[in-house]
Amino acid sequence: MNFVEEPKFAARRRMMVAQLRTNKLAFSEDVLDAISKVPRHLFCQPMYVASAYEDVTLPIAAKQTISQPSTVARQMSLLELKPGEKVLEIGTGSGYQTACLVAFGVDVYSIERQKALYDITSDLFQRLDIRVNNICGDGYLGMPEHAPFDKIIVTAGAFQLPPKLMAQLKVGGMMIIPVEDSSGVSNMHRVRRIDESQFAVDKLEECNFVPMLSGVNNA
Ligand code: SAH
Repeated sequence: MNFVEEPKFAARRRMMVAQLRTNKLAFSEDVLDAISKVPRHLFCQPMYVASAYEDVTLPIAAKQTISQPSTVARQMSLLELKPGEKVLEIGTGSGYQTACLVAFGVDVYSIERQKALYDITSDLFQRLDIRVNNICGDGYLGMPEHAPFDKIIVTAGAFQLPPKLMAQLKVGGMMIIPVEDSSGVSNMHRVRRIDESQFAVDKLEECNFVPMLSGVNNA
């Protein structure tokens, strides 16, 4: 990643990571290390930069939100990532979580359905020299041409486990995905692929995400 570090933001980021370290969800130290390298303020809209190192979601373009740092830490910790793994991310959004994955040292493929966000974020990746294979497309379809993936991380709330994403997991691979039930409550889910035809699904804590919608929005 290529950016000029500003002492004020570096100090705020250290404080944010120190606070995440005390979270009861006990995030992995390698994940916190990756998060400590990513200048979140550069992924926020200018008017929200002052809040960039608070553990909150913030509005980004196309009425979406940048993920909360503790949510990024939680999803990445659950994934049990190892450097060099091939990871598919659904919901590039601001690119913040993508940058955290790249900082961790995994090989990232990312899909965003909002063309406006895809354009802004692709430009930012280029400026910061963040190497990622990102496309504008429908995450429900995954990226069959690059499958199978060691891990899949979904950062929008699905209404069911997407069959095409499950099919793109390696045997032994894992997907972390928020899923909303019929009463409107979302829970984080961990899906492990046991063999060609069997998956083990664990329903974890309640969570809150913008919805995972089908199709591309070119507006
Ligand atoms: N991780 C992002 C979070 C963005 S919010 C960040 O830190 O900024 C979730 C994103 O998922 C939104 O940008 C939304 O447009 C996108 N999304 C929702 N449904 C999608 C789908 N089917 N395919 C790809 N992206 C999707």
